[in-house]
Amino acid sequence: MNTLKPTLATQLGPLRGLEEWDDFVKTRYTEKKKPDDFRDYSDTTPPRVREFYRQNHAYQTRDFVLNKKKQFLARNRAQMGIWEAMEFLNTLIDESDPDTELTQIEHLMQTSQAIRRDAKPDWFVLTGLIHDLGKILCLWGEPQWAVVGDTFPVGCAWSPKIVLHEYFALNPDAKIPDYQTRMGLYSEHGGLDQVDMSWGHDEYLYHVVKDHLPQEALYMIRYHSFYSAHREGEYEYLMDDCDKQMFRWVREFNPYDLYSKTKERPNVEELRPYYEDLIAKYFPAKLNW
Ligand code: FE
Ligand code: FE
Repeated sequence: MNTLKPTLATQLGPLRGLEEWDDFVKTRYTEKKKPDDFRDYSDTTPPRVREFYRQNHAYQTRDFVLNKKKQFLARNRAQMGIWEAMEFLNTLIDESDPDTELTQIEHLMQTSQAIRRDAKPDWFVLTGLIHDLGKILCLWGEPQWAVVGDTFPVGCAWSPKIVLHEYFALNPDAKIPDYQTRMGLYSEHGGLDQVDMSWGHDEYLYHVVKDHLPQEALYMIRYHSFYSAHREGEYEYLMDDCDKQMFRWVREFNPYDLYSKTKERPNVEELRPYYEDLIAKYFPAKLNW
C-alpha cells in the first residue's frame, strides 16, 4: 500500500486539514436562521475555505468525474477490512482543529456513539462510524477539492443555492450548452442513480460498501455532502420516488455528522470490541479499496 506522509493533507490544498471544510459547513448551518434564508458567503467565508471552493467548483467537470470513476472504482488499490481502513485514515493528521487534536478514529466514534445513544438501528450506528472513510483518497495523493466539499450533480445546471456558486463561472462545463440546461444529460425524475455527482469521499465509499449495507445506509453515505439537496431542497426534479423517500434518512443522519463533534475523547480501546462485532456482522474481513 502506498502511504504518503501524514502531513501531506495540508500540502494538497488550501485547507489546513479536511476537517476545516466540515467545520465551515457546521458554521453555515448553525448560523442560518430559516431554511430559505439565502446568504451570500463571499464576504463571510475565510480565505482558505474560499480558495478551496474556488478550486472545487472550477475543476469538478463532468470529464474529471468520469475519469476519477475509471481510476478509483476499479478498486484495485488495497484490500483492507473496515477497522484497518480506519487505522489507515488515522495516519492523516488534521491540523484544522488545534484545540481538540482528536484523531480521525475518535471523530468517527463521536458520530457513531451519538447515534448509538439515541438507540438507532445498529446499521445506522455503523454508518456513522464509517461514513467518512472515503477520505483515505487524500492519502492516495488526491487534492482536497477532490475529496471533500459539498457535492453536486455534473452534466446539468448548477443550483444557485450551492455555496459560493459564483466560482462555477470558472468551470469549463459552463461553456458546454448541453450541460447548462435544468435537466442537462438526465431525465426528469429519472433517479439520482443515473446522475454523476461531483467526485469525493461520499461516492467513493458508496462503491466500496454498496453490497453490504441496507439501502438507507447507502443513501446516507453517498449523499451526506449533497447539501443543496438535503438541506436546501434543490434537484428534486432529478429524484425518483425512491430517492425522495430515502432522503429522509440522509436528513436524519446530517445532525449527527454536523453536531456530534465535541472535545470529549471517546475511549477507543474500550469501545473497540463492540465495533469489531458490529463490523463483522455486516462486512467481510477484507474489502477492495
Ligand atoms: Fe463526510
Ligand atoms: Fe462526516
